[in-house]
Amino acid sequence: MPDTRARVWSVRKATSVPLAPYGGPSVFGYETDLPLRRAAQISVHTSPLATLGGKDAGGMNVYIRELSTHLAAEGLPVDIFTRRTDPHTPEVREIVPGVNVIAIEAGPAAPVGKNDLFPYLPDFAEQMALYSLRAGVRYDVVHAHYWLSGWVAELGRRYWDAPFVQMFHTTAHMKNAVAERADRETDLRLRTEKRLLSLADGIIAANPDERADLIWRMGVATEKVCTIPPGVDLDLFRPEPREAARARIGIAPEERIVLFVGRIDPIKGIDTLVDAAAILLAGETLSPAPTFLIVGGDLDDAGEPVGPLADIARAVAARGISGRFRLVGSQPQDQLPAFYAAADVVAVPSRYESFGLVAVEALACGVPVVASRAGGLRFTIDEGVSGLLVKPQSPSALTGGIARILGDDALRSAMASAARPSVERYAWTNIARQVMHVYRRLAEGHRAHLCAGSEIFEATGSD
Ligand code: UDP
Repeated sequence: MPDTRARVWSVRKATSVPLAPYGGPSVFGYETDLPLRRAAQISVHTSPLATLGGKDAGGMNVYIRELSTHLAAEGLPVDIFTRRTDPHTPEVREIVPGVNVIAIEAGPAAPVGKNDLFPYLPDFAEQMALYSLRAGVRYDVVHAHYWLSGWVAELGRRYWDAPFVQMFHTTAHMKNAVAERADRETDLRLRTEKRLLSLADGIIAANPDERADLIWRMGVATEKVCTIPPGVDLDLFRPEPREAARARIGIAPEERIVLFVGRIDPIKGIDTLVDAAAILLAGETLSPAPTFLIVGGDLDDAGEPVGPLADIARAVAARGISGRFRLVGSQPQDQLPAFYAAADVVAVPSRYESFGLVAVEALACGVPVVASRAGGLRFTIDEGVSGLLVKPQSPSALTGGIARILGDDALRSAMASAARPSVERYAWTNIARQVMHVYRRLAEGHRAHLCAGSEIFEATGSD
């Protein structure tokens, strides 16, 4: 029997290709494989292909789509697992070369509320593993989004020998701290998130406060948590002349526009914006009076708001200010640059934001932002330079911020000039490389020093 090992070695030596350290656990003969060859993303409750701006599709969907696209561009293929909600969706859809979205059968092939999905998670993990067997692929790292997917990643350990990194996209604890009683998150979510903190091999926090909270309050080991914010598509979101943008979306040149973009969910604080608008319009201090343009939520075939957006329409009508509101429903993301560029100011009145993509997209388009001093917004808005931060859930504070920017052209144009440069650090190539670093460390078997070392959030010491 010839000595295969000796032969392989002599070939390598003869061509002087350096031997890569054995990354295992592949079979003999594959020792030059890199440890990081393919990644899985798990997004149980919402698909990266869902329509954005509805109740459950927003920043996380964008994040998974963009991150996967950029990882694939850097040479790492990605499969994204999401629950099948429609019997006709193909099992595998390639969204860009190297990125597949895979529909997993777990529970009914119909929409199911987030809070009813937990019993289907073992099926989801099993079907995911069966898919990987059928497709003949294996994953070197698993990235779980939101607590439900984190639990699937943990159950997936029964089948896959891959480390997993968890991203919460807001924890129940953070959300409950600002939620009304009716909107509070369940004990099951709180308990599961707590368990995931010790079960996950690595955790990515979207802002320095979130990392600090995980470490100091929740007791997570420091070396396990990296702060890596989402990125923003700086090619799509870029400044353009206001008049041209307005002409595209039917806004008169002389109108003053306060823009809101986002899911219609209590966490977004639209109630605060409605109250702020009522104060501002009653004061009649601004002439002409601004129009509040609301992007997000659903309209019926007749163009009338439905669901949570209808509640907003009623709240606006009750204050007698319907004439100054325009509810245009959710918009495809590639239409949003025109909305941002057409605005005089973008309002982000959220009760909490893990990161707050809308604020960063607006800044990338060169538009000042008035936002709540909450979560990631505290780090993305350069107070007084690119926008203003105001007390969350305070209509009068929000009114003050909006009036200050609308009433001072010099301030507004200085902020507009400062906006774009302030967010260039969120370029996706930069962010994807940092996430790739975490994956590589985990795939190589490390459980410490996972973070690449980032200057995105200065002076935060995220390593
Ligand atoms: N978005 C969109 N169309 C809409 C409303 C929102 O494409 O009608 C996108 C928006 O561009 C942003 C994301 O949805 O990328 C919302 O992200 P953000 O972080 O602001 O909020 P989240 O949904 O994560 O709470």
